[in-house]
Amino acid sequence: MDKKIVIVGAGVAGVNAATKLVDNGYPGELITIIDMGKDPYQRKPEEVMTGFLGAGGWSDGKLTYHTAIGGQLSKYCGEEKAMELMDQVITNFKRFHPKPEEVQCSNPEEEPEFIKPYFGLRLFPVWHVGTDYLSEIAKNWYDYLVSKGVEFIWEHKVYAIDFNKNELSLANQDFAGEIQYDELIFAVGKSGIDFAQQLAQSYELPDEPKSVQIGVRFEAPQEHFQKLIDISYDFKLYRKFDNEGVSLRSFCTNNNAAYVAVEETYGDHSYNGHAKKDEAYRNNMTNFGILMEINGIEDPFKWSRDVVNKVQANSTGLYYSPSRQPSTTSEGNGVTATQISLDTLTHVVEPAMEGYFKYVMDFIMDMKKVFPTLGDDWGMYIPEVKYLSPEVKVNYEDLSLIDYPNVHFVGDALSARGITVSGAQAIYVVESFLK
Ligand SMILES: Cc1cc2nc3c(=O)[nH]c(=O)nc-3n(C[C@H](O)[C@H](O)[C@H](O)COP(=O)(O)OP(=O)(O)OC[C@H]3O[C@@H](n4cnc5c(N)ncnc54)[C@H](O)[C@@H]3O)c2cc1C
Repeated sequence: MDKKIVIVGAGVAGVNAATKLVDNGYPGELITIIDMGKDPYQRKPEEVMTGFLGAGGWSDGKLTYHTAIGGQLSKYCGEEKAMELMDQVITNFKRFHPKPEEVQCSNPEEEPEFIKPYFGLRLFPVWHVGTDYLSEIAKNWYDYLVSKGVEFIWEHKVYAIDFNKNELSLANQDFAGEIQYDELIFAVGKSGIDFAQQLAQSYELPDEPKSVQIGVRFEAPQEHFQKLIDISYDFKLYRKFDNEGVSLRSFCTNNNAAYVAVEETYGDHSYNGHAKKDEAYRNNMTNFGILMEINGIEDPFKWSRDVVNKVQANSTGLYYSPSRQPSTTSEGNGVTATQISLDTLTHVVEPAMEGYFKYVMDFIMDMKKVFPTLGDDWGMYIPEVKYLSPEVKVNYEDLSLIDYPNVHFVGDALSARGITVSGAQAIYVVESFLK
């Protein structure tokens, strides 16, 4: 118990790691947390991604509680252990909550009969912390760690790490210096993803094969889906074709005041969706992604970029509908998209997706059976795409890099996509130290 542990990133993962250490009697004086953001007393509302509790600190406060949601955890430690680790994260959020009795778990019921046999519906429990309480939780949690002697270095960016010398370099506008570590927990989240990739490239870190995630943003009047929305507001329909290496899911459902958003990546357009909270924006529309996960493609990133590039026209993405026109944005402008005919869909989009587009069309045709009023009253924006960043290969027992056993990647910087999994990965690493 005399190793110097340095944690880069005071986000959900970093904070859970430090907590697990001091809870088990590890001397706080041997733990240093560096973050480019601010402590919870100084952090401003617009600082969404950085500072104490990271992106999780200013998030929607929904703690998902299922191993199929929020990224990879059970892959490393097995199902049972994953659930136990997630319990620990949820307990921590309750422990520092000013009103823990208000933390409620929503647990949707069984899959409704009417979607069978065409789709599965992913049902999972969610603990609701309450967005309004996150700032209070953060302050209580921070005070606890400080009281245990943990050293925090705020508003300093780590810009280089020498894995061979066990040394990292950090700076702000007034200072630049180096810090030595015995064990390093690398927990930089999405805001540090470029830095993570830079390290992966310069050290030639091997990575896990990734899948392609591509499809369309589907849009229709909400009334057609209301029966399902009443059961699961952010419903996730899915289906799998294991033998063909393809699975599909509906993704990120927006209702009530739902708008399609244009994203520009690498100079091309793709689509996403968002929902306004204000009733004044209500348009009674629903939109969601229909995303295919395609495994076994040689260079998924390049393949996805090529496909996205092929399904552009007039410097925009495409829109196809058997009956509708593209919608407007919440600001009242048209969603930028070139409307195409069924012929173009067949002769441009299908070949661009190398035969995979048929899965999207089948998904839509089966939705027409399950939601009988839908008919031709829908449209789709092409493409929606998720470029997954490479996930470095780690040793499964402690999430350490294959060639650098004292460097541990955790949270969104590894393979997580949510609060519970990020915190759980970090606790898992600390348990390996405590052994
Ligand atoms: C708006 C929004 C809402 C969300 N809502 C939810 C939700 O309801 N439920 C859910 O499960 N997930 C949600 N998420 C995702 C969730 O917040 C993240 O998955 C989670 O916070 C990841 O934890 P992490 O510790 O890996 O990274 P983060 O929590 O992002 O923390 C990373 C920390 O590292 C610091 N950092 C980065 N680079 C450096 C560097 N070079 N030097 C020093 N410090 C650095 C950052 O300042 C940051 O504080 C939301 C995300 C956003 C943006």
